[in-house]
Amino acid sequence: MSHPLVVHKKFPHDVYCGRPSKWGNPFEIGKDGDRTEVIFKHRAWLIKNHELMAQMWELQDLTLGCWCAPQDCHCDTLAQFTENGIYVFGGENEWLSNFYGDDEGAGSIEYFGTTYATNEHFFQAMKNKDPEYRQSIAELPWYAAGKAKSLGRQVILRPDWDAIKNEVMVHGLRLKFADKYLADKLAATYPYPLTECNVWHDVYWGVCVSSRCRPRHANHYGQNVLGRLLMQVREEMS
Ligand SMILES: [Zn+2]
Ligand SMILES: [Zn+2]
Repeated sequence: MSHPLVVHKKFPHDVYCGRPSKWGNPFEIGKDGDRTEVIFKHRAWLIKNHELMAQMWELQDLTLGCWCAPQDCHCDTLAQFTENGIYVFGGENEWLSNFYGDDEGAGSIEYFGTTYATNEHFFQAMKNKDPEYRQSIAELPWYAAGKAKSLGRQVILRPDWDAIKNEVMVHGLRLKFADKYLADKLAATYPYPLTECNVWHDVYWGVCVSSRCRPRHANHYGQNVLGRLLMQVREEMS
């Protein structure tokens, strides 16, 4: 589907991935080991680099140029990671979405004796401590996650919301992925990038890839906070 090609720099390519580009390997042959060692070090470094992982969707379908081909190099790792990353939290990867749920309670979250049908329900409910507000969201079925979201848009935010919202999100993810079936699915994505590419201009939780926005977003398509928190929970589980 989206496997990037790696070619020597002298051949036509879409993006140069050597130093000093952002895709370059910070580990150098000689200084940091032989070819095999610097490829291995780069791979371990990349897995921890959520900033760069959040940008790997950009390499889909591109030809990567470097000095090394046909010898192995870190570009092969970039190609492999890009190909195996998940960039849409829908279809067969719907389970990664905060809207994921079903009639049997998959994706649901237990929090102090209250069940929320999806992580979206839980997240929106936490925006205000009023028990009636929380109850009104808890009563919504899983397929009404959009309704939960719009209720969360109207409610008065608890004063510390901005400071705690990431913590609330990751807490919800931990509860959601406590489920063995979902935990196994998440673990199986290791160590590849998870990014919610979207066209609804969410540049905080995901990455906006709308063609209309590309010129405006320049190199800042989004922070991918949801993807990063998913990768964090995945690391915690391993
Ligand atoms: Zn190279
Ligand atoms: Zn946008």
